[in-house]
Amino acid sequence: MEWSRFTEITRIAYFSMEIGLSQEIPTYSGGLGILAGDTIKSAADLNVPLVAVTLASRKGYFEQTIDSHGYQHEQPVSWDIASQMERLPVRVSVPIEGRAVVVQAWLYRTKSPAGGVVPVLFLDTDLEENTPEDRAITDVLYGGDQRYRLKQEIVLGVGGVRLLSAMGFRIFQFHMNEGHAALLTLELLNKTRNLSAATWTETLAMDRESVARRCVFTTHTPVPAGHDRFPYPLVAEVLGDTLLPFEELRELAGHEDLNMTTLALNLSRFVNGVAKKHGQVSQAMFPGYEIHAITNGIHPLTWASPYMVALFNDFIQGWAVQPELLVRIDLVPDLQVWEAHQGAKAYLAQYIKEVTGQKLELDVLTIGFARRVATYKRNDLIFHDLERLLALGEGKLQLIFSGKSHPHDEEGKRLIQRIHEMINTLEGRITVIYLPNYNMDVAYRLIPGVDVWLNTPTRPLEASGTSGMKAALNGVPNFSVLDGWWIEGHIEGVTGWSIGAAPTELHADESSRDEDALDLYNKLEYVIMPLYYQQRQAWIQVMKNAIGKNAYYFNTHVMMRRYVTEAYLQR
Ligand SMILES: *Cc1c(COP(=O)(O)O)cnc(C)c1O
Repeated sequence: MEWSRFTEITRIAYFSMEIGLSQEIPTYSGGLGILAGDTIKSAADLNVPLVAVTLASRKGYFEQTIDSHGYQHEQPVSWDIASQMERLPVRVSVPIEGRAVVVQAWLYRTKSPAGGVVPVLFLDTDLEENTPEDRAITDVLYGGDQRYRLKQEIVLGVGGVRLLSAMGFRIFQFHMNEGHAALLTLELLNKTRNLSAATWTETLAMDRESVARRCVFTTHTPVPAGHDRFPYPLVAEVLGDTLLPFEELRELAGHEDLNMTTLALNLSRFVNGVAKKHGQVSQAMFPGYEIHAITNGIHPLTWASPYMVALFNDFIQGWAVQPELLVRIDLVPDLQVWEAHQGAKAYLAQYIKEVTGQKLELDVLTIGFARRVATYKRNDLIFHDLERLLALGEGKLQLIFSGKSHPHDEEGKRLIQRIHEMINTLEGRITVIYLPNYNMDVAYRLIPGVDVWLNTPTRPLEASGTSGMKAALNGVPNFSVLDGWWIEGHIEGVTGWSIGAAPTELHADESSRDEDALDLYNKLEYVIMPLYYQQRQAWIQVMKNAIGKNAYYFNTHVMMRRYVTEAYLQR
């Protein structure tokens, strides 16, 4: 096997606990991983010299089934890693509980239709040399307890750097996509003390500043509880002080716990949030650090329905490698945009018929809502006042939901149950559909096939959100609380519609539920439904604006160019 063509040039190493490239490689749970996959694909399209590092996650995240009580159950995902990528012969070891745990990698080549290739390394501990317990470290994404998570993060951060080095990669920037990979900084510091191993550094003495000069950190979570923390007694047992004396670790990673975010913040030259607003919220969370903002995106060719791909190919040649060209969407006749959309809707209707047996009417306004099911996302907000919903929507609305809850999130699971209750409660009056096991395949069918994409999180807890960008690309306007990317993409009545007040707060505001629901109903009844049913031409203009004023900009090509110029190449 030949990987030398990848090591000939100096690269950016992109570390992510999860990467979602396709449903055939189910090593992701949701937005963070799919963003990573889309980033890698755009890097390949743009010939950005990147190498990505993640975990093999041989049992994936989980597969969701829902029982007759609307309750979620979880099964391991079975997939065959060997059928998707090739095993590399290189082996390194990492210190875990005093053992030398062996780590090997699988190589996947992400190929762009434009010719670029980005190698992705999937780290794996399922090797004969390891104990049965150690073999399972790279099994379940976000599974197990804190000890299991810490072991995974040692494999990712420390194992990843060691593997890149052993393979001969020369890395000029390490990008941590979320804090999970922050232990890589310790290995870089460790290298400074082990000069003979510092093959890739021009400056052999890598002190904190030299490490920071090489590191970029993207934070994704505006919820303090969402940041990984490990108690030092656990760190002492699992990692020990082989990489760094504890005194120094405490200085860098926090005095109470090992806080992965603090560690990454202290050892990165460039730190960013994933939307303008999220940058400000993160700045308030981490005073004393300079936090930039680079808004997330989606990979256009991955997320456009086959109907839109055909349409764009006909009218906007080159759009897939240069999605900025979608700004020219007004070249396309209205009727063709409408027909492409109705094609995607019919395709979704067929899928729904197969999965739930329900019938989706093609001429009834259909609202889609799919994302992780968690309290702050308020997935059930549209059911806040059933009388009002029925009064405005009976016979004139269809609602489609999808989404998983984290296995330990009982409140989230109750939300899934509540939405399932609505299927029966509203039957015959408003069709409610729940598509089980939300994943990339489901998203690919669902998002382009609905007429409006709804999002109702508690502000300001949606860091960016990306499903709304997938909707916009397919001519599906957003109807959303002003949070995350939508603050930047929203022009009222032009690209879509807002729900609730203007975004001012920097901390969670749970009090707006009644107000937000009222605004949601009013806009549906007085603005959105009349436009859809009575002013089709004006409606199609909003669809086009979603493409020409949202999708042309909110994509990973634009995002990648920003990372290159604002983060990787900045000095
Ligand atoms: C795009 C996508 C997400 C992320 O969407 P958000 O709007 O950020 O919640 C999550 N899961 C799947 C399967 C997706 O395709």
